[in-house]
Amino acid sequence: MTAKPTPFALHHFIDGKKVAGASDHFGNIYNPATGQVTKRAPLAGADDVRKAINSAAAALQGWSATPPARRAQVLFAYRDLVKRHMDELAEIVSNEHGKTIEDAKGSITRGVEVVEFATGIPQLLKGEYSEAVAGGVDSYSVRQPVGVCAGITPFNFPAMVPMWMFPVAIACGNTFVLKPSEKVPSCSLRMAELMHAAGLPDGVLNVVIGDKQAVDTLLTDPRVAAVSFVGSTPVGEYIYRTGCAHGKRVQALCGAKNHMVVMPDADMDQVTDAVIGSAYGSAGERCMAISVVVVVGEETADELVRRLTPRIQALKVGPYTDLAAEMGPLVTPEHEQKVRAYVDTGVAEGADLVVDGRPVKVADHEGGAFLGGCLFDQVTPQMRIYRDEIFGPVLSLVRVDNYDTAKRLVNDHEYGNGAAIFTRDGDCARDFTSSVRIGMVGVNVPIPVPVAYHSFGGWKRSLFGDHYMHGPEGVRFYTRLKTITARWPSGIKDGAVFHFKAGGEH
Ligand code: NAD
Repeated sequence: MTAKPTPFALHHFIDGKKVAGASDHFGNIYNPATGQVTKRAPLAGADDVRKAINSAAAALQGWSATPPARRAQVLFAYRDLVKRHMDELAEIVSNEHGKTIEDAKGSITRGVEVVEFATGIPQLLKGEYSEAVAGGVDSYSVRQPVGVCAGITPFNFPAMVPMWMFPVAIACGNTFVLKPSEKVPSCSLRMAELMHAAGLPDGVLNVVIGDKQAVDTLLTDPRVAAVSFVGSTPVGEYIYRTGCAHGKRVQALCGAKNHMVVMPDADMDQVTDAVIGSAYGSAGERCMAISVVVVVGEETADELVRRLTPRIQALKVGPYTDLAAEMGPLVTPEHEQKVRAYVDTGVAEGADLVVDGRPVKVADHEGGAFLGGCLFDQVTPQMRIYRDEIFGPVLSLVRVDNYDTAKRLVNDHEYGNGAAIFTRDGDCARDFTSSVRIGMVGVNVPIPVPVAYHSFGGWKRSLFGDHYMHGPEGVRFYTRLKTITARWPSGIKDGAVFHFKAGGEH
């Protein structure tokens, strides 16, 4: 049994300093492997959040006027610091979230790739120039920062998701207020310190810990120009509607139910490995996790269940301190209860629970939020375990007769984040990639997360707004286009003009 820690309160990070905050509301932060409360999260009130916005607004003029190449230098230095502090950051992530150290490091590395993308900002901000749009008249377009931006992030990627946002926003010349999930805020605080150690001026990146009250202040303050959100669909829809109603640009990346279609000609070794990694990695707490396998043909389905069953039963569940663990606990005891309740629901709905992870226990960690891998066969689209995002290590297997039915299931589901098809048939793969209503599609790739220089986002109720994150879409979201048309005194003079002229005649 682990000794009971004394919870200590965290601080916000405002104007380059740790700030205790004025609110007397606190949330609990757990070590999910023990179930013990290890820290207390100060939940910012409106005054605390306004302080952060004041700081970001005051820093805006200086930072937006800083040449992009100089901004990039800060990001180069930050990238090196993150790499140097990789072990420390991974420990912070795993301690609050529960995921294995390897998984934490992998996610931090994906975040660093976005930083590397953002170091190319001088190139990314290059505009367009047209000489002589009319006699003596030139025209050019530039992209300028939008202003103070806010980021609201979920619990499942405490390093990576914030790094989808602030490096690109800051590289574009904006200032930023980050409100990380109050369940896992420590990594964001440490990343802000590292940004300052890298040379970022005070106020350009602020971190406030908080819940709905903090979010509502960000959504309604007129000085916040743009809001990036990643989290669940009901909250994302609220944030999109409220932010837009207050005149802000909003991108809200939301929930998912990612399907993997397995065709009878697929390589079953590859399929089995892909399902194990993508359904149970990070205990299923990934917005790109595969949570539904749609298998075409009874024989293929029987074979897949036969192959998966012993692999799921053998999954090594444990705390991040056990380096042999393949799957950690769920994020909090509350979330564990929610996921367990879904397993109960699946049984009550009549699905066949082939592997039951509920009895799994981890020695010396009796209070931990552990749940072993679960596999349901004979799931139908009417069941709640099929329709809802469970966000845990629970996989549903749906049997269908043909490819068209499989594709219809993917297209009819309310979410449209990711989907994959496993097949050797090029025609079938091509039809799938061109006609599924999904934002990120894999062919024999189970988790098709776009690399940093492409953009990440879903369709349907997995995304509200028009712009995806990072890559070219990220730069578009964090900048406004301005087009300048210029004539110089030496150009042709046509006197006062009271009507539009055709292009080329200005
Ligand atoms: P969540 O929606 O509960 O919380 C996300 C953020 O919103 C947190 O910062 C939280 O403090 C804030 N929040 C929560 N309730 C709020 C409310 N009523 N009003 C205003 N703000 C509120 O999500 P979570 O449980 O932290 O994360 C899991 C969810 O995130 C899953 O649905 C998952 O699919 C989704 N997710 C999506 C992506 C993606 O790219 N599409 C990536 C990662 C996670």
